[in-house]
Amino acid sequence: MIFYLIPVLLAVFIVIYFRLYLFAFPHNRLIILMYHQVEKESHEDLTVSLENLEQQFSYLSHKKYTSKFFSELSVSAKKNIVITFDDGYRNNFEYLPSLLEKYNLKATIFIPTGFIEKGYQNYPMMTFDEIRSLDKKYFEIALHSHAHENLKNMSLDLIEKDLEKNMQILDAQKIPYSKVLAYPYGKYPNQKEEKSAFFSFLKKIGIDFAVRIGNRVNYYPTQHPYELCRVDIKGKDSIIKFKLKLIFGRLKLF
Ligand SMILES: [Zn+2]
Repeated sequence: MIFYLIPVLLAVFIVIYFRLYLFAFPHNRLIILMYHQVEKESHEDLTVSLENLEQQFSYLSHKKYTSKFFSELSVSAKKNIVITFDDGYRNNFEYLPSLLEKYNLKATIFIPTGFIEKGYQNYPMMTFDEIRSLDKKYFEIALHSHAHENLKNMSLDLIEKDLEKNMQILDAQKIPYSKVLAYPYGKYPNQKEEKSAFFSFLKKIGIDFAVRIGNRVNYYPTQHPYELCRVDIKGKDSIIKFKLKLIFGRLKLF
């Protein structure tokens, strides 16, 4: 029996050691948080309650995290954090400005222009006027494709058309944006050759960073500007879970 246990215990020890190592040397860590909706009450993973969000923002501010836009990443600071919201829900417009101001934090909102034009399911979305009116001191707008399709299944040609549409519409609406892309559903071409062709294409069109999900901590400067990981903050996450996610990214060891 003991022979079976030794490798398991060894593996657990290595993982814990590695995690503690990351915790003890946090100088160039970059955490990117991923949110979607905020409502008075949360009934699903993608919606965080106002109360939880305020508790989380208050913690970040109290612990002196440096909240940044992607466009400011090159300026070095301790405890870097980027707070992101996907899809452009109307509740972001309603609740975030006062919260961000109160805790002196910033947020990046990834806009799929198709959702703004045509709506998304029955969710109220922001209008282009509302997006344009967000205070640039607290909000950065970035790309989330036009049609919000899974890029993994699309040809480079179609991806190019879709991303260009995303940028052209924001340009036409006179909404300034950073050239940072959140992959819809966190997916992108991931087979070796496809992936390198895709990344060359992102470089060609001037994309600075692209984010997936991954639930890991990043390090900045990064070797993987097109595979930055975000930590998924779920609707029901307690403040303890949130604090652990800030340290470890993911909560599962394997
Ligand atoms: Zn999305």
